[in-house]
Amino acid sequence: MSDLNTLVGNTQATLRRIADEFSPAVFASSLAAEDMVLADMILKAKLSIGIFTLETGRLHKETLGMVDRIRETYGYEVALYKPEPNAIDAYVKQNGLNAFYDSVDMRKECCRIRKVEPLNRALAGNKAWITGQRRSQSTTRAELGVQEDDPAHGMTKFNPLADWSEEDVWNYIRANNVPYNPLHDKGYPSIGCEPCTRAIQPGENVRAGRWWWENPESKECGLHVVDGKLVRIKAVAET
Ligand code: SF4
Repeated sequence: MSDLNTLVGNTQATLRRIADEFSPAVFASSLAAEDMVLADMILKAKLSIGIFTLETGRLHKETLGMVDRIRETYGYEVALYKPEPNAIDAYVKQNGLNAFYDSVDMRKECCRIRKVEPLNRALAGNKAWITGQRRSQSTTRAELGVQEDDPAHGMTKFNPLADWSEEDVWNYIRANNVPYNPLHDKGYPSIGCEPCTRAIQPGENVRAGRWWWENPESKECGLHVVDGKLVRIKAVAET
């Protein structure tokens, strides 16, 4: 438990530093368990950090329900960033509603329209952004730092839970009575859009249910893309 206390103290200090030194800063929440840990810390400490989520139009109703849970629990209204309707219409007309199953390129184009472009809009004008990513979540996150330079967005990116294990996340949630997405209790440790997420079996990697038809190395949703290529963003400092 003392390890968790240390992690919590370090994470709270990181969040305070972001609010003090990197304002304006925003937290991109996917409304999953990790993100609820960060939302709980930000909102209880009343830090000046905005929270938004990418409302892709393909989320589970349980995930969208977390926006209501946050309002009820903390009195905070999460900002929703949605894709451009014209871009969705063109993609669906040309390729079909679920063309992301056809190829990695089709999937990345869907993610670009529904996630990357709205993310860029949400980040515009900020000095830093925050994610709930952890190092142990997948092969593409093995080098994740707490603080990174994000050249793609021209700002600093923070992953305050980079050092946390899945167990740490759940210990914090239980100890602090933090609301969480009910899908986590139904075999979904990692939750994205409904058609691109499935429940996993015991023993499978926690992200095995995300874009499960692809290779693990190509699974990120393109949120860290430069010139159309997935880039590793170097850590500039660990806090
Ligand atoms: S996760 Fe699936 S539905 Fe969501 S934006 Fe990416 S490809 Fe489209």
